[in-house]
Amino acid sequence: MNETRAPGRVKEVTSVANPLVKDIKALALKKFRDQQNAFMAEGLKLVIDALDAGWSITTLVFAKAGRGNPAVEKVAARTVAAGGNVLEASEKVLSAITRRDNPQMVVGVFRQRWTKLDTIRPKPGEVWVALDRVRDPGNLGTVIRTADAVGAAGVILVGDTTDPFSVEATRATMGSVFAVPLAKASPEAFLAWRRSFSGLVVGTHLAGSTDYRRIDYGSGPVLLLMGNEQQGLPDALAQTCDRLARIPQTGKADSLNLAVATGVMLYEIRRKALPEVAG
Ligand code: SAM
Repeated sequence: MNETRAPGRVKEVTSVANPLVKDIKALALKKFRDQQNAFMAEGLKLVIDALDAGWSITTLVFAKAGRGNPAVEKVAARTVAAGGNVLEASEKVLSAITRRDNPQMVVGVFRQRWTKLDTIRPKPGEVWVALDRVRDPGNLGTVIRTADAVGAAGVILVGDTTDPFSVEATRATMGSVFAVPLAKASPEAFLAWRRSFSGLVVGTHLAGSTDYRRIDYGSGPVLLLMGNEQQGLPDALAQTCDRLARIPQTGKADSLNLAVATGVMLYEIRRKALPEVAG
């Protein structure tokens, strides 16, 4: 028996005016993502990864063309088992939801998941990344993806930042949004939490006095603090750092892109922890 075909379990939707479709389309706006505590992930692989990682799905939308596809049928069955809605949508509806001409065959709506800052107790060997007022969703998504790649313990968003659950940021994570714990905090709450942080706090600053390759990152936990794209780290955050690192540059560029600088730092901090490529 095909569980997803049970009457009432799969709703066919062909109109963009359908209230369920309207709710999903509204997730393009942060206000509605916050209200619904939800966000959208596109693509079959991402939806499977999210379900495997235990994320809670509320709605699965799949294209008519996905009917009969065993992988799609399986995620539909998992969604039903989790108490979620399953919608079989026309291409027009999927395009409207994803705002793309060639939409993915599958879109999942998931509950957001945040880690509370005061529950984070960094352990030896862990690296945490804190981003001050990151503005660009592509940068944030790329940092989350890179944090995942190096096995960082999580990313903390400080101050007024772009939303990691926006479609653009989620896309840029390439699925790592489901793998990397995320926390958010006001600058004051972050500074208070930092006082109880027992490891090394390394800020990156264009005026940093130490070459990032000369720092002994040790074996305790490391907190890497990165500044805002336009303004860099404000004084209050820079002063809380044990070290201010600079990545040397030649040429005419004023600075590196935030996500690139984070990648350079994370690979240096995690250099010994990452296995060498055999060959
Ligand atoms: N105009 C900003 C400034 O004066 O700091 C540039 C900010 S830069 C685009 C964004 C962040 O990336 C910086 O706050 C810092 O954390 C990091 N960054 C970029 N290039 C860096 C470098 N060469 N050395 C250290 N950190 C760097």
